[in-house]
Amino acid sequence: MKALVFDGKELKLLNVEKPKFKEGHALVKVVLAGICNTDLEVLNGYMNFTGVLGHEFVGTVEQGPENLVGKRVAGEINIPCGQCDLCIQGLDRHCRNMRVVGIKNYDGVFAEYAILPVKNLHIVPEKIENQRAVFIEPLAAAFRILEQIDISSSQRIAVLGDGKLGLLVSKVLSFSRIDHLLFGKHEEKLSLARNWTSTELSSNLAKYDRYFDVVIDATGRKSGIEQALFLVKPEGTVFLKTTIAEKIQLDLSLIAVNEIKIIGSRCGPFPKAISALEDGLEVRDLIYGTFELSDYREAFNMACKGSLKIILDIGRDL
Ligand SMILES: [Zn+2]
Ligand SMILES: [Zn+2]
Repeated sequence: MKALVFDGKELKLLNVEKPKFKEGHALVKVVLAGICNTDLEVLNGYMNFTGVLGHEFVGTVEQGPENLVGKRVAGEINIPCGQCDLCIQGLDRHCRNMRVVGIKNYDGVFAEYAILPVKNLHIVPEKIENQRAVFIEPLAAAFRILEQIDISSSQRIAVLGDGKLGLLVSKVLSFSRIDHLLFGKHEEKLSLARNWTSTELSSNLAKYDRYFDVVIDATGRKSGIEQALFLVKPEGTVFLKTTIAEKIQLDLSLIAVNEIKIIGSRCGPFPKAISALEDGLEVRDLIYGTFELSDYREAFNMACKGSLKIILDIGRDL
């Protein structure tokens, strides 16, 4: 089968062996896959990953449990060992031996087929088109914030970053009727976001010194956390959604003096994302372009230039 393989230096389209079916797993024929900033970070050395890249997908189960065969699925990316002390304490989202699809020690989904634990898979209801279903994973990550904190429109809330994740977080907040201000650098992305929320240019940040109760950093940049610490009120909360290969230096006394709560936030609840899409949450306006696997260089070039979502069109439904 064809697969996009990262060898630690370069991403290549190779012919590799189709994954073999294993008990407790499902063989998934990948239909669409999304390029995420994390994929670009992996290419920069994040997690020292080598193997088949990619973790956002919708596909059709070809082999596996009867209730799944022929069904469209999306998949969670964390594969915990189930045996370490953290797993046993119920912290399996933070397993000591965690493998992560297309990110850490586990082949990803930029391939014609992927093999995934049955536990990780969620059936995609018929109402949700493939082009929306491919957003389930990043959308779930956006919903994670609402699991971690009670927020409401009575608070002042800012989302930092008008990239793919920032826009998804902003969409999720709006969908949940939570007013917020979205900060970004790109007039065309902010004007898209004005369809559902109010926006502000990052260059006007200075106007909002210690103004917000909650600031969500989804910039995917080193500067995001610093900006968030500038914007957040004393005793306020900062969410960190940014995961980058680069290390950040920070004045931690700012956090101590202003008594800021910092909350790390990563993967989230698939059922929430699926039900929001079923209830009509629109995300296709975030698609910038769709490419075949063979055009992966162009697809990744676009994604590296900070475009909105790039979709890889890998296979057809069964
Ligand atoms: Zn992702
Ligand atoms: Zn474990």
